[in-house]
Amino acid sequence: MDRESIIKQLRNKGLKVTPQRLAVIEVLIEQGDLHPGARLVYHEAKKRKKSLSLSTTYATLDELSRHGIIKTLQFDRMENRYETNREEHINLICERCKKILDYKVPIIVDSRGVAKKTGFSITDTRLEYYGYCRDCQAKTKEGGDKCVEEENA
Ligand SMILES: [Zn+2]
Repeated sequence: MDRESIIKQLRNKGLKVTPQRLAVIEVLIEQGDLHPGARLVYHEAKKRKKSLSLSTTYATLDELSRHGIIKTLQFDRMENRYETNREEHINLICERCKKILDYKVPIIVDSRGVAKKTGFSITDTRLEYYGYCRDCQAKTKEGGDKCVEEENA
């Protein structure tokens, strides 16, 4: 999703496009591949708009998510992450460095067909694979777990 289409969606929903919101949106677009958490978004967006606060960042992310413009990914053991890719895809989640990669699914499940057959009203979907990314696997081979932990410390 690009900047203009997000701004258009905000306006269509009657939401104001403030400079603070705009800074958050720009960071989401630029760092979208990282599936950033709120703290990273705040850190980067503040460079663009000094008056941005952490609470405004959270409020903006929440609002964008509630309106279906972005998606919030909630986890048990790590902070919420946000994604702008609204196409059906698998999130490959690295359990060590917490990186999230998108993988475009080769087959799209017909969710309307599933709903029709089962009578189930589908409100959300999540496709997730957990494991270790290439970088983390390489690090484990080089120096074992200890090395990685030191790097993150
Ligand atoms: Zn990793």
